[in-house]
Amino acid sequence: MIPFYDLQAVIAPHRREIDAAIASVLDNGQTILGPQTAAFETEFAQFCGTRSAVGVGNGLDALSLILRGYGLGIGDEVIVPANTFIATVLAVTANGCTPVLADPDPESMLLNPSTVESLVTPRTRAVIAVHLYGRLCDMDSLSAITRRYGLLLIEDAAQAHGAQRAGRRAGGWGHAAAFSFYPTKNLGGLGDGGAITTDDDDLAARIRMLRNYGSAQKNVHELAGVNSRLDELQAAVLRVRLPHLDTENERRRAIARRYSERLRAAALVLPAEATAGHAFHLYVVRSPERDRVRGAMRAAGVETAVHYPTPPHLQPAYAELAGSSLPIAERLAAEVLSIPLHPAMSDAQVDRVAEVLCGIA
Ligand SMILES: *Cc1c(COP(=O)(O)O)cnc(C)c1O
Repeated sequence: MIPFYDLQAVIAPHRREIDAAIASVLDNGQTILGPQTAAFETEFAQFCGTRSAVGVGNGLDALSLILRGYGLGIGDEVIVPANTFIATVLAVTANGCTPVLADPDPESMLLNPSTVESLVTPRTRAVIAVHLYGRLCDMDSLSAITRRYGLLLIEDAAQAHGAQRAGRRAGGWGHAAAFSFYPTKNLGGLGDGGAITTDDDDLAARIRMLRNYGSAQKNVHELAGVNSRLDELQAAVLRVRLPHLDTENERRRAIARRYSERLRAAALVLPAEATAGHAFHLYVVRSPERDRVRGAMRAAGVETAVHYPTPPHLQPAYAELAGSSLPIAERLAAEVLSIPLHPAMSDAQVDRVAEVLCGIA
């Protein structure tokens, strides 16, 4: 059986360092908002090329606290891609804002800048660019649009740690960016975690307060905040893994190139070229017979996944969005298939997955 993801194999080369990092937290005794979190914030900001990084509890909170930190609320519209993980939309509605869903570009599967521009109204306050599957959105065009209309540009970089174009990393393009360190992300901890990156010192200071009960100083609560902090154990693990992220992303790209070579003849739509800056969180192929292909792969011993089978506007939680006309997002949801991809995969495993898929599709 070839698993879709193998956390233990991905962690194995770092296991000794991780054990030592966990021991150092236990030796230090401070488990929340201590030296590991502070050091990780400095190192992650430096990695992303931003002035600040603020650790929070998870990726959803990172997105939500950016909107809250910028004072967005009821009546404000936020443009998001229709084919995203539901967390992007949940962050918008959690703040009382109205999500405006943009049908994606069918080739890149990312936000289409001209669609985004057509959705701008006098109530629009922000655009959330989701770097889906590890590929950067067209940030030059999106920056030009958000500048023209005076909007905030926020990155959902939960799938794009280390992705880059023209020397600029995911997290360094918008007014602020949200990251998740869920264990299977390109940079993952051993539990939940997240961070915000930004060059905006005021926003960083507000989010530092908001994440800690609205408090910058013990027993003084300036804002009605929340409890959403990156803990010391996760920060210590992330500090071990961060220096290896570029190498692991390079391995992901090599696997993606190998897949693309071996799947050339299959009746599938393959992802765009493994360009230098693509973080390849996922290798997603498309087939009109997705469910049949998926079932046959499982029968042949290859585990796959679907990101995502039901778009947010067709989820029971968002009945009010059900009437939206989003044909591209709905077609992608029916056709996308994620095949195994993680940095610890061997070439033999990659070849086996490709061979099985070629025999089915
Ligand atoms: C994983 C993910 C999130 C949410 O992150 P959590 O840490 O699980 O809350 C948000 N957006 C996208 C695109 C994701 O893939």
